Amino acid sequence: MLNNTEKIEKNQDEFEFLEKPSEKKAKMKDFLEKIKNKVSEKMSLKIFECGDIVGFLKSKGEKIRLHGGNFCNNRFCPLCSWRKAKKDGYLLMLLFSVVQKIHKKELIFLTLTAPNVVSELLEFEIKDFNKSFERLVKTKDFKNICKGYIRKLEVTYNAQENTYHPHFHVVIAVNKSYFTDTKSYINQKKWLEMWQIAKRNPKITQVDIRKAKLDDMKGVYEMATYSAKASDYLYSEDTFDTFYSALKGKQLITFNGLFKEILKEVKAGEHSELIESDGEIYNKQLWFNWIEEKYKLFRTDELSDSEMQKIYVDEIEID
Ligand SMILES: [Zn+2]
Repeated sequence: MLNNTEKIEKNQDEFEFLEKPSEKKAKMKDFLEKIKNKVSEKMSLKIFECGDIVGFLKSKGEKIRLHGGNFCNNRFCPLCSWRKAKKDGYLLMLLFSVVQKIHKKELIFLTLTAPNVVSELLEFEIKDFNKSFERLVKTKDFKNICKGYIRKLEVTYNAQENTYHPHFHVVIAVNKSYFTDTKSYINQKKWLEMWQIAKRNPKITQVDIRKAKLDDMKGVYEMATYSAKASDYLYSEDTFDTFYSALKGKQLITFNGLFKEILKEVKAGEHSELIESDGEIYNKQLWFNWIEEKYKLFRTDELSDSEMQKIYVDEIEID
């Protein structure tokens, strides 16, 4: 007969949902190495221990949600930024559906780019992006159509050229009539011109603009992910330093107009009726420990009804 530990070892492969957090956790050593002389000893220790313990909830229908763990919450932490992106994704989905379903608006996604810059110019370029965007939103054409926007800064790294690519992902709420009103409608060519003027750079060749579909997951994903990818900022000591000083303490996402109002309402507890329940009953906890580069199951608990009520909110769905 198998004892408990052996049973657990045997079942380890069933936990597919551990793949993503394991992949993130595996990057933590490298991350700590790069950040440790920039943060306090206390923070270093938190990062060192981050994700050593993770807990999941499992439903009767075998669905999984991330439940808790010991996390450092550092902005650059590969594991914590993955968790945060999941959470932010839910918030954004809710904002999008309030805008679409209650305010009867449509959403358009706009990506604003400019030529890449070298490391020394990144901070300046980010400031310039902010200023340029301010110029764009102050134009008559923009004000005419915009009922609110969310703007997110993202920076990617081109290792071949050793250059950085800051850009904005913007979602704009517009009236339904926007697409048929020839007077106020802004086509792709016009967006490009407007951005060239606002950015004061006629060499910009591209602006990506598209209408959001209902439940536009690509759009949600673009807006919710952290402003930099771990694979980029962990590329080398130099790239980490560059990303760190350019993004540390900066406001990376801004909410305006209708989105700002709705965000306030959501934070005050409104609109929860729009959050679709998956109808599952999560009654089991699974806790894992990070040992020898792997998550190992160390505890399972059935939950009582009162415990379940306490934890139903604020969970993160795993896909
Ligand atoms: Zn962390």
